[in-house]
Amino acid sequence: HPNVHIVGAGLAGSEAALLLAHHQINVTLYEMRPQTMTPAHTGGDFCELLCSNSLRGESEESGPGILKRELLQAGSPFMQVATKYRVPAGGAFAVDRHGLSSHITKLIEEHPRISTVRKEYTAIDSGHFPLILAPGPLASVALCHSLEPSFGQGLYFYDAIAPIVDGDSIDMSKAFRAARYNKGEPDYLNCPMNKQEYEAFYRALSTAQRVKTRDFEKTIHFEGCMPIEEMADRGEDTLRFGPMKPVGLNHPVSGESFHAVVQLRRESLNNYAWNMVGFQTKLTHSEQKRVLRLIPGLEQASFMRLGSMHRNTYIESPRFLDPSFRVKDQAGLFIAGQITGVEGYIESVASGHIAALAALHQLQSLPFAPPPPTTAMGALCAHISTPSKNFTPSNIHFGLFSPLTQRHRKKERKSLYSSRAQTDFKAWIRQHQGSLSI
Ligand code: FAD
Repeated sequence: HPNVHIVGAGLAGSEAALLLAHHQINVTLYEMRPQTMTPAHTGGDFCELLCSNSLRGESEESGPGILKRELLQAGSPFMQVATKYRVPAGGAFAVDRHGLSSHITKLIEEHPRISTVRKEYTAIDSGHFPLILAPGPLASVALCHSLEPSFGQGLYFYDAIAPIVDGDSIDMSKAFRAARYNKGEPDYLNCPMNKQEYEAFYRALSTAQRVKTRDFEKTIHFEGCMPIEEMADRGEDTLRFGPMKPVGLNHPVSGESFHAVVQLRRESLNNYAWNMVGFQTKLTHSEQKRVLRLIPGLEQASFMRLGSMHRNTYIESPRFLDPSFRVKDQAGLFIAGQITGVEGYIESVASGHIAALAALHQLQSLPFAPPPPTTAMGALCAHISTPSKNFTPSNIHFGLFSPLTQRHRKKERKSLYSSRAQTDFKAWIRQHQGSLSI
């Protein structure tokens, strides 16, 4: 029987191991914990959810809802176990994290086709190909060093993300499009504030509740990624000389100038997702929503992603990976999980699923095509493999899907994305499952 090696029994690695074993492939799975711990994991169990216990929203008219639907339809081992450990959480799919993690650990340790090796894997050994590397955002230092000769140019430490706003929820009677000093295309959306509005925003921001810093995060603080609330601590006007600088941003019609301006930058070509420029933040999620909705134009903002900060090692995937998470010039080497620039639990699971299917097809000398970018899984595959000047990790949202081609009303958009994804994903499953059963 052929053997696949996998490094890291986290979200991506566990999914890949169980899926391959299900297809009768022998797996050797390396996990360095508990001997060598990461700064955030708490023990030796596999597939640990590090922070929240939520796999996010259930609605099938959202990126995370569609991604979970696809994982379930594809027979994801992680989702099958997660379904058993659901806890009530309103519209969210939350789980008992300890139950889930110990169940998956047991499944893996008792599986006759999986051998687990509790050891830090420090360098790629081509004798282990097919090899799936899934060491996560807190990958061990030795492994990171050994990846540098091949991926050095692209291996980053990334520690801050800013919120992303759903374009449909921005009040365009208040926000306006303009480029600073009218230079170039008016690509930015600008939310202007007068003095009174700024002062109210500043007070709310400075006193809002923050997520406590973990020790390891203190050491990797870069000036360029300073959270807005910490910038605000430096003085009332610091933000007006930083991300909220109003100069050169007069109103295009009235010519009015402002006391402060918040800028939003397009995350995707389809106007769907807007990134709040320079607004990386460590406020708690509920406080982010409260404080950011004080910004004129964002009163009704719906957030596709909220801000957060943590150590995050990732490679510049579009340079190195194809859409199947395969390293372009090294047949037999795959990289999966958050280190590829997918962000989040279910996204990491999805990447492990695709990498495992690609490895499986390779072992059987069958061609493999990942799902199309009209589906949630395919949108992630496209995200990590499409050249981009400013590649950053992303969780799943409609901004990553291929734009809709037919004319439609705004309020139909989400359901159109969802139904198109459903049709295309089912067709993809039929196609690749057909090829496997040959
Ligand atoms: P992991 O789940 O981290 O798995 C990687 C595994 O590889 C680990 O078990 C690690 O011990 C092992 N490993 C590392 N190096 C080696 C080596 N050299 N040899 C052998 N084993 C090795 N996402 C969310 O959706 N919600 C959240 O609330 C959330 N909170 C997060 C909090 C923190 C502090 C961090 C860092 C990330 C968080 N994420 C969250 C992001 C992301 O979803 C998770 O990090 C997710 O676990 C990534 O899955 P993964 O499989 O890529 O990595």
